[in-house]
Amino acid sequence: MAVRSENKPLRVAICGGGPAGLGAAIALSKLPDIQISVFEQARELREIGAGIRIGYNCWRVLELLGAADGVKGHHKVSVVHRRNALTGEVVGSAGPSKVPLKYHPRRVRRTRLQKALISKVPPGIIKLNKHVSSIEDLGQDGVRIVFRDGTETTADLVVGADGIRSTIRDSIFPEHKIKFTGTTIFRVLIPQHTIAHIPDLTAATQWWHGPAGHVYHSLVDDPSEVPEQERLFEIAARTVVDPETDAGPKFSWGIPATNEKVESQFKDYDPRIREMLAQVPEGQWKEFSAFAGPRLETLTGWDKVVLLGDASHPLSGAFGSGAAFALEDGWILARAIEHARAAGQPLATALEIFDAIRSPYYLKMYQHLDDQKRKMEEAKAANPDATFTSSLKERVYAFGNEESLPWVYYNNIEDVWQSFLKGQIKSSSLSSSVPQVVASL
Ligand SMILES: Cc1cc2nc3c(=O)[nH]c(=O)nc-3n(C[C@H](O)[C@H](O)[C@H](O)COP(=O)(O)OP(=O)(O)OC[C@H]3O[C@@H](n4cnc5c(N)ncnc54)[C@H](O)[C@@H]3O)c2cc1C
Repeated sequence: MAVRSENKPLRVAICGGGPAGLGAAIALSKLPDIQISVFEQARELREIGAGIRIGYNCWRVLELLGAADGVKGHHKVSVVHRRNALTGEVVGSAGPSKVPLKYHPRRVRRTRLQKALISKVPPGIIKLNKHVSSIEDLGQDGVRIVFRDGTETTADLVVGADGIRSTIRDSIFPEHKIKFTGTTIFRVLIPQHTIAHIPDLTAATQWWHGPAGHVYHSLVDDPSEVPEQERLFEIAARTVVDPETDAGPKFSWGIPATNEKVESQFKDYDPRIREMLAQVPEGQWKEFSAFAGPRLETLTGWDKVVLLGDASHPLSGAFGSGAAFALEDGWILARAIEHARAAGQPLATALEIFDAIRSPYYLKMYQHLDDQKRKMEEAKAANPDATFTSSLKERVYAFGNEESLPWVYYNNIEDVWQSFLKGQIKSSSLSSSVPQVVASL
């Protein structure tokens, strides 16, 4: 990497202005001698995609970033129901979370999270309308970043926070490919009062599971903040097909879908769900095709590029915690750089520390998903005559929840960092084989 003299700041180019890029910008901007730019392809920072779950792991990192107070939403105190979508029968329920009240899960408008993060990014850092089209390793001189508009810049560290279709990931790992998972998600936010007449819908956040997909709905607003007439209601309807046999066109993110297209997928669902779908004004649905890819062996490249958020672990929202993972990544990156600097170690060491903490964590997630898939296949093979209804309970709870996956949902990133400092997470970068002070950060 470039040898930066002590009085020259570390130049950091963050590609992407989603949760990963914004979180990294906030965490890194608190370090001294650092010059940060966030390059975002969009003309304006506008979030699409309806609601998002903020749970314990996300609240902890939002607190560390100083952004927790700006995020408000529906407090999921009420029971969460899981239902058979065909009969309406409740097949499982979960009560309020056991963590302290301020860390309870909330369902929030994604715009709220984004606004809270943007408000903590120092002014002048975010450069809009800057689509990164390629990056090039310049050896000791850093990384050249080329934009679609023909301009270019150079940085000592490139942070790939450019989402599931990451250009930065493609540059450092050209063999890595993502593909359609078979899941398509239709999402929308509608005024809450338009569905208020339908029995049971606003009482709880609910999943209505069908034979090939499910419909999820939730309130997303905090009544203390949003007047009744302005409160919104989120619907996320999923269909699942076999990706090997499905030959239909795939859309990447946020493409409009017609009401007819959405409603036709859920014709056999409970009348309450059909009535709810019928309330969505034409032109409001957005369609998202889920893509995922294999696990990356490492999240860093060229000793000066690092991947954060969806760019680093294309799991396609599998744990409903993607925003938390993205924010945790950025906070750990800042700690790793701070730590390596204090020890007079090079940037490569900071990236090794980051990788030593985050790569095994993502590996554990991939292993969990593989295990679940295997268990479901074994259960199916053991009982080939099981009907949709008889196997529903097992299927619904197969994935796990807050209690059974505490290493995901109760993750406290500050404790993780303390574990690293205590030597409980090992990094080869701490061994004496790492050349001392190639370049101070
Ligand atoms: C259906 C669905 C439901 C989900 N529900 C939840 C949930 O309830 N809770 C939760 O925590 N997570 C949820 N997630 C996951 C969460 O949305 C993501 O994990 C999170 O947005 C990842 O943030 P990110 O910054 O890594 O990527 P993104 O949010 O995708 O942001 C990437 C940014 O990079 C920009 N960009 C892309 N390419 C370039 C380029 N070449 N040059 C410049 N800029 C570029 C994009 O415009 C975008 O702004 C869900 C995901 C899906 C698909």
